Amino acid sequence: MNKIQVFTIAILLGYINLLFAAPPEWNHEEQATWWAIEDATKDLPMRYPFAECGVGQHQSPIDLATAKLNNTKKLNKLQSSYPIDTAPTFFNSGHGVQVNTSLNYKGEIKIGEESYPLIQFHFHEPSEHVIDGKPFAAELHYVHVSDDGKIIVVAAAIDIGAENPTFQTVLDNVPHEPSGKKTDANIAINPASLLPASLDPNDLDFYSFAGSLTTPPCSEGVQWYLLSQVITISATQLDQLKSFYSNNARSSQNINGRVLSSTN
Ligand SMILES: [Zn+2]
Repeated sequence: MNKIQVFTIAILLGYINLLFAAPPEWNHEEQATWWAIEDATKDLPMRYPFAECGVGQHQSPIDLATAKLNNTKKLNKLQSSYPIDTAPTFFNSGHGVQVNTSLNYKGEIKIGEESYPLIQFHFHEPSEHVIDGKPFAAELHYVHVSDDGKIIVVAAAIDIGAENPTFQTVLDNVPHEPSGKKTDANIAINPASLLPASLDPNDLDFYSFAGSLTTPPCSEGVQWYLLSQVITISATQLDQLKSFYSNNARSSQNINGRVLSSTN
């Protein structure tokens, strides 16, 4: 090949790269500047895909102590129905340990008459929400998306205590390499059994507030339901979780006048 041919191929490869460019990379260490990350392949207004992380006024997570609590509102019951999923996908998202439910999965959360299918659940270490002035060891997020795109996250703070066998199934099957996926016909998961058996799945106690995704693009319009009761995993399980990702938690965001409602 002569120089001109090499040059032409280099330009073509660059062009193909622009056409199929992945979204920009981000990590938790640089969370203060997520909003400024540029997608050089795009012009305004698409050039700053994570701008909402910086300009949003209802960002998550929050320190609950910074919010006013209003208990005068009548709240709909939060009812979880998380049956066994026989074909979940264990997924290393590149930012956390996650389980994606299968396409035919019927698990959902019901709030009043509205149903929100469970799409995935994942873990942060330490917790993202701060309760009574302290982060917990970790936090579980059940992510639900309704048919019209509304996002509901049910969160549970995780303390160190009794081992959780279902969490062990997650740890044992999520691949260690980023973007790794595993689906095995012999490995089912029961998302409900991550929660304490003492909870009434048809009447969960919670704090609720408006917020956002806690990872880029930090989209708002997410309604949060933080369960009042914590769940436990063992110290060994926490160490195993850290062997995937540690410090994959976003820090508390400005409350900007948001009010909490609660069943307690
Ligand atoms: Zn999360």
